[in-house]
Amino acid sequence: AKKTGKGCFVFWQRSFLKGSTPERVQMESELREAIISNQLVLHFQPKVEAENGKIYGLEALVRWNHPRLGLVYPDRFIAIAEESNLILELDQWVVNAVADQMTKWRKNGLPLLEVSVNISAAHITRTGLIDLFEGLFERYPFLGDYLEIELTETAIMADPDKATVVLNTLKKRGVKSSVDDFGSGYTSLGYLKKLNANTLKIDRSFIDGITRDHYDRDVAKAIIALAQSMSMDVVAEGVETQAQWELLQSFGCKYLQGYYFSRPQAANIIEKNFLQPLVVEPV
Ligand code: C2E
Ligand code: MG
Ligand code: MG
Ligand code: MG
Repeated sequence: AKKTGKGCFVFWQRSFLKGSTPERVQMESELREAIISNQLVLHFQPKVEAENGKIYGLEALVRWNHPRLGLVYPDRFIAIAEESNLILELDQWVVNAVADQMTKWRKNGLPLLEVSVNISAAHITRTGLIDLFEGLFERYPFLGDYLEIELTETAIMADPDKATVVLNTLKKRGVKSSVDDFGSGYTSLGYLKKLNANTLKIDRSFIDGITRDHYDRDVAKAIIALAQSMSMDVVAEGVETQAQWELLQSFGCKYLQGYYFSRPQAANIIEKNFLQPLVVEPV
C-alpha cells in the first residue's frame, strides 16, 4: 500500500509540474533568479562501509533556500528545471559549488573524501557535461580523483549509447560513476556492462521493505549479485535501521547510505561530525 501511495504522490507532483500553470511559470523564473543570486545550498550525506559504519564518501544534494518558502527540497524543483535549459545551469552551479567546498576543506587541512554529484538526464541527451568537467579540472586540478557522478537508471536508459560514451570519457579523466535508483527503472543488462560504471545504488524503495517483504529482499539480493558479477561496487540507499544494515551486510552489500548513519547536512555540520583535521606528524 505504501508503494501505491508513493506512486500517487509522484503522479500528483508530475501533473502539478507539467504544463504552464501560473505557479509553475513563477517557480521557474524564481529558480532562474535563485541560481544566480546564490539561494541554492548544498547538503552532504555520508556514505559508509557496511563492515564498520565508517564514512568513505559524501553525496552532494541541492536545496533551495527560498526567500518565502524556506528550505525547498529538490523533488519540488528539479523537474521544473529539467523542462527547460535551467537544469544545465543548476547542475553547473552544483558542480562548481562542490569544487569550492572541497577546495575549502583541502585548505583547512581536512581529509578529502570522494564526493558524488547528481547529474540530470538532460546533460546526457543534450551536451556539455564533458566540457563542464574539463573546465573544472583546469581550475581545480586536484579534483580529478575525488569526483563521482550519479545518473539515474532512467536517465541512462533515455539515451544509453550517449551515456556510455559520456561516462567512459569522464572515466578517463578520473571521474567515477554510479547508476542511481537502480531497480526502479528498466535497464538493458547488455548496456549496463558497456556503461562501465563503477557502482550500482539500490533504489531506496527496496531497502524500505527488505526486513519484511520477500520480494524487496530478493530484488536487493539480486542487485548485489548482479553488481558482483560485473565487478561493480554496490551501495544501498535509504538505510534507516540497524536491522536493514545487518541484513544488507549479510547479503554482501559493502556500502550503505541512509538516515540511520546521517541525514544530509550542511557542510559545517558534516565537518564537525565526520571530518577530523589531518594530524601532521612532526619529523
Ligand atoms: P537521490 O540522488 O536518489 O538522493 C537520495 C535521496 O534520498 C535524497 O533526497 C536523500 O535525502 C534521501 N534519503 C537519503 N537517505 C534516506 C533515508 O534513509 N530515508 C529516506 N526516506 N530518504 C533518504 P533529496 O535530497 O530530497 O533528493 C531527491 C532527488 O533529487 C535525488 O535523489 C536526486 O535524484 C535529485 N537531486 C538532488 N540533488 C540534485 C542535484 O544537485 N542535481 C540534480 N540534477 N538532481 C539532484
Ligand atoms: Mg543520488
Ligand atoms: Mg538514489
Ligand atoms: Mg532518487
